[in-house]
Amino acid sequence: MFHRPDPSSEHKLFRETVRRFVVEKIRPRAREFDEKGRFDKSLYLEMGELGLLGLRYDEAYGGSELDWTFTAILHEELARSDNAGVTTGISVHTDMATPSLHQFGTEELKQKYLVPAIAGEMVSAIAVTEPGAGSDVSGIRTRAVRDGDDWVINGTKIYITNAATADWYCLLAVTDPEGGYGGFSQIIVPTDTPGISVRLEEKIGLWGSDTGEITFDNVRVPVSNTIGEPGAGFQQQMMQFQDERLVACISLLSGSELLWQETREWVEGRMLFGKPLSKMQNTQFRMVEMLTELTACRALVNQCVDQLVEGHDATDLISMAKLQCCRVVRRVADGCIQFHGGYGYMKDSAAGRAFVDTRIGSIGGGSDETMMHYLAKRLGF
Ligand SMILES: Cc1cc2nc3c(=O)[nH]c(=O)nc-3n(C[C@H](O)[C@H](O)[C@H](O)COP(=O)(O)OP(=O)(O)OC[C@H]3O[C@@H](n4cnc5c(N)ncnc54)[C@H](O)[C@@H]3O)c2cc1C
Repeated sequence: MFHRPDPSSEHKLFRETVRRFVVEKIRPRAREFDEKGRFDKSLYLEMGELGLLGLRYDEAYGGSELDWTFTAILHEELARSDNAGVTTGISVHTDMATPSLHQFGTEELKQKYLVPAIAGEMVSAIAVTEPGAGSDVSGIRTRAVRDGDDWVINGTKIYITNAATADWYCLLAVTDPEGGYGGFSQIIVPTDTPGISVRLEEKIGLWGSDTGEITFDNVRVPVSNTIGEPGAGFQQQMMQFQDERLVACISLLSGSELLWQETREWVEGRMLFGKPLSKMQNTQFRMVEMLTELTACRALVNQCVDQLVEGHDATDLISMAKLQCCRVVRRVADGCIQFHGGYGYMKDSAAGRAFVDTRIGSIGGGSDETMMHYLAKRLGF
């Protein structure tokens, strides 16, 4: 009902493959992953074997060279896994930490880090946010100082998804404090490098994925681990954010659509005052309102995907989609909790989990205000 009709039998088959993986490998263990606070790394290996971790990447590195419609299907289906933490951890790896490496990395770097990432043998994380700078990315302070052929890195990153699971970080660091926006670099940092320590953080939601604070204490990595030219990191990260934001929209929206459907079943089965809750006009109106909002978001997200497939710059549209989708999914989660009454407030209810899980959308990867700040500038205010 919600996603666009699959345009080809290849798309249909791909959707079935992902759906089967989600039903067999994630859904039955969803609560177990929540309790552990992370999910098994073996899931990445299994996804790698199915060819799900490098959909848009070159075949030369193990990717599939498929367009964005397949990426959309992947995240629509993963979002039905009953565990938004798992979905987040996987999407960080597929679409938030690896795009820059694929686009700008040297052949040597891609062989060493991208090939195993696409195979699921290595897990990646994106390390940008710091205690003193989140929305204001240019305010980061983590320094990489050149010493011969090495970078020596000092600083702290916080709220990093996959912090303890990852085998390498795509780190954004200051390499030239006088260089303005040209003073940042993206550097691959293997997580077994001496001087790295991780402290796990406790979150109100997304229980199935690990999030941590990472300290870099004189961490030494080769300068050849720089993605692209030294100094190009800020611009590359801004580009990488586009993939992150659209994937976040697709994922949150798909999860909310499923919640809406589950809530429909609930209101049709729940009896109040001798009739189903769905027979109250208030219920019908609110359900219709939520569906309308979700459908409008779906149209916006599909338009973003179409723009990318056609090779256009979709930055403005993605910013609008990120702003709108993240607001709508929060309203939907709130509405669905209300229909579930007390059960909605229980930890094992999908509506209750969605209430906390969707909240990150308006904060992470560029908050609502960051999107509005960008769009206002683009409009010349
Ligand atoms: C669960 C989780 C996972 C995360 N995973 C990662 C990760 O993997 N990698 C990573 O690097 N980071 C990650 N983050 C960090 C996330 O991207 C940041 O929290 C986010 O960018 C906001 O930064 P901040 O927390 O420093 O808030 P701040 O930047 O301090 O923002 C505070 C408030 O100011 C608002 N604001 C921002 N700009 C403006 C403006 N122009 N005008 C008015 N108000 C404004 C913000 O929207 C917010 O409401 C994660 C965070 C969470 C909670």
